[in-house]
Amino acid sequence: MSTETPRRVEVYPDREVIVEFDPDLTFECVEDCTWCCHHGVLLYDRDLLELAQRANLAETTTEFRGEKFVTREEKGREEHVAEDGCACAFLREDGLCTLHLEEDWKPTRCSVFPLGVWLEDGDLHVDIRDSAHEHCEGLNVSERSVIDNLEAFLPEILWDLENPDSDREL
Ligand code: SF4
Ligand code: SF4
Repeated sequence: MSTETPRRVEVYPDREVIVEFDPDLTFECVEDCTWCCHHGVLLYDRDLLELAQRANLAETTTEFRGEKFVTREEKGREEHVAEDGCACAFLREDGLCTLHLEEDWKPTRCSVFPLGVWLEDGDLHVDIRDSAHEHCEGLNVSERSVIDNLEAFLPEILWDLENPDSDREL
């Protein structure tokens, strides 16, 4: 966690977030990395409804500890998979996301990464996820300020969720 004093930023009208990361942070996803797509993706209820219009939920989602996730599946290839040969059901062989490409949509957690959000004392907080510090290659490699582009990472539904905590993993 940053040693900077957290800043309150209005991302949408009357929708504020407490920024816990270094305000100088920049981010640009690194082509061909796909690390964050090797894991099961948390689906908020609204995501589940959206996904139901685009994919077969019985084939692409699973339940774990009372939460819904996009399944990981064995890919039978060497690239764009985790060490166990698996990756997100929607990650294509070329490292691109089927949902993003064909539906122009992706689950909220995929927009939020490499950030993480949680609710504390009624406020939505945002920081870099611990796993991103370790694995995400896109941190501080570009000129694109995160704090100035928070709407690209934080869909507005996050403010309506009872439990927006994105740090729940499969
Ligand atoms: S849904 Fe798409 S963006 Fe999200 S983890 Fe899967 S492949 Fe990656
Ligand atoms: S881990 Fe970071 S750089 Fe790699 S695909 Fe995910 S967001 Fe992009």
